[in-house]
Amino acid sequence: MELEAVLWDMDGTLVDSERLWDVSLADLAAHLGGTLSAATREDLVGSSLRRSVSTVRAEVGLDPADEAAVHADGRWLLERTKVLFADDLPWRPGAREALAAVRDAGLATALVTSTYRELTDVALDTIGRGFFDVTVCGDEVPATKPDPAPYRRAAELLGVDVTACVAVEDSPTGTRSAVAAGATVLVVPSEVAVPPGERRVLREGLVGLTVDELRMVLLGDAAARDDHRTRADAH
Ligand SMILES: [Mg+2]
Repeated sequence: MELEAVLWDMDGTLVDSERLWDVSLADLAAHLGGTLSAATREDLVGSSLRRSVSTVRAEVGLDPADEAAVHADGRWLLERTKVLFADDLPWRPGAREALAAVRDAGLATALVTSTYRELTDVALDTIGRGFFDVTVCGDEVPATKPDPAPYRRAAELLGVDVTACVAVEDSPTGTRSAVAAGATVLVVPSEVAVPPGERRVLREGLVGLTVDELRMVLLGDAAARDDHRTRADAH
């Protein structure tokens, strides 16, 4: 199968924004009169704003289902994170070069992020809008990662078969979303380890990544599946 598109996660994959989320989520917990445990923070890597806010509220002993309060705290978190993003949004090593290589090869590309549009737009000032044909944000899909909806939507917008796409992800949540949508995933873990599993290839990071290697990720996985099918048919 021919590689048709590369679907990029943003936070933790292209930019080291999870470090900034560490700060803003801890600030939200403090703002609400509590603290956020390391385990809970780890669980929230790659999560939606809504889930993050509800989880922080529960952690500090506030009602996680209070719609008005979740909304207000979500605004607070968004504004706090926006300031951090605008101030300093560092690239992950090799990310800019990998984006450029995929762009130069003429492949279709999408940014697929759980981050809301208004914050993604701040990040895109640093990353560069020209790297992506389409961008799908957390507040533009019926369900966020680990639901398959964001990756399905990206493939739809690009007009490509999602099974001919390679997603690039750093988190277990994002990897689950892309696999559930039918994509093959190049996993470049940042803060949290991603367990091995179906339709994923692990790589240490993005440094030195080539388009040929992305093609191999898709081909290698398809070959493994065909091989598995052949062996299954033989029994
Ligand atoms: Mg991520």
